[in-house]
Amino acid sequence: MTDTQALVISLAKSLSDSSVIDYTLYLDNLFPNIPLAKALGELDIGIMGMIRVNALGFPLELVQLKQAKQSLKWGHLETAEADEIGCFLWQDNNRVLGMTTVYNLTDTIIRARKRSSRTSTYASITRPVFEDSPVKELPIPVGINAYNHHMGGVDIGNQYRADFTTLQHQNQRYWKPLFYWLLDIALVNSYLLYKAYRKLVIEDSKRYHHDHQRFQEGLAKALMTYCETPEHNQILRPTRSYCAHCRKNQLNWEPKYEQRAFGTNITNNWGGSGGGSRSGSGGRFRGSCTRWGCDQCNIPLCKIGDCWRLWHEKFNYY
Ligand SMILES: [Zn+2]
Ligand SMILES: [Zn+2]
Repeated sequence: MTDTQALVISLAKSLSDSSVIDYTLYLDNLFPNIPLAKALGELDIGIMGMIRVNALGFPLELVQLKQAKQSLKWGHLETAEADEIGCFLWQDNNRVLGMTTVYNLTDTIIRARKRSSRTSTYASITRPVFEDSPVKELPIPVGINAYNHHMGGVDIGNQYRADFTTLQHQNQRYWKPLFYWLLDIALVNSYLLYKAYRKLVIEDSKRYHHDHQRFQEGLAKALMTYCETPEHNQILRPTRSYCAHCRKNQLNWEPKYEQRAFGTNITNNWGGSGGGSRSGSGGRFRGSCTRWGCDQCNIPLCKIGDCWRLWHEKFNYY
C-alpha cells in the first residue's frame, strides 16, 4: 500500500469504536483502490468511493468501458466484483468508476438531475434524456446519491473558515499561520456545534452569514471578558502597610486598647492626632497596619477580621 492509502488507514484507525459504530468512508478518486477497501473492511469500516482508471486491482473490463468510445445510455450501470468488493461504472452526465462495500449497486433512488451543457463530453448521450427541460427527476444508484450528499465536507469547512478567518498576512514565523488555521477550525467547529444545539437550519446564504457573524462577535466578547478565576492566597508581605480594605472603608478605627481586648493584633493608626473621634480634625484615617495581604491582588489586608472576605466579595472572586 502506498503512503496515500496508508494515510487513510491510519486516520481510520483513530476513529473510536469502529467495531460498535458503523462507519462509512466516502472518498474521492485520489484514494480508493481494492487493497484499501479490503484493509478498511478488516477494520469494519465501509467505503463508498470513486476510482481512477489506474487504481490497483480494479476490474479491467470496467476500466476499458470507461475509456471506450462506445456510447452508453444515460443511467447505464455496469457492475463487477474484485476481491468481493463491488465495483461499478455509471453513466450520468459523466462516466464514472467507483467501488463500495456498503451499498447495493442496483438500488436506485429518484433525484432531480441537471442537464449537462451542450459542449460536455457526453452531451449527445445525456441531453436527449432531458428532452427540453434543464432538470429532470431520474433514478440514480443509492450509493451515488449518498456519495453526492456526503462528499465535499472539506470544501464546506474551508468556506466557513474563509468567511471569518483570523489569519494575519504579515507573519514572520512559519508556525503562526498554522496556529491561526487551528484557531479558525476551533471557531468553525464551535459555530457548527452551536448551530446543531439550536437545531438551526439556514438555507439562505445571506442569513447564514449574518448568523455566523453574530456568533463570532458574541464569542469574541465573551472571550475578552473571560478570565479564569485565580486562587487568592493569604501571604506574609515583606513590609508592614495599611490594609487596603479598612483604609478605604474606615474600619478598625477603635483605639488600640479596645482591639487588644478582642484579642486582635491590629494596630490602629491615626495619622498624628491619636484621638478618639473618627472624623476628628488633624487626623487622616489610614486603617490598620498589617504585614498580611493577598498575593493575587498584591495588596495588604488585615489577617484578622472581615477585611479579607469583604475585599474579595466586592470583586466577585468568591
Ligand atoms: Zn485577593
Ligand atoms: Zn483591614
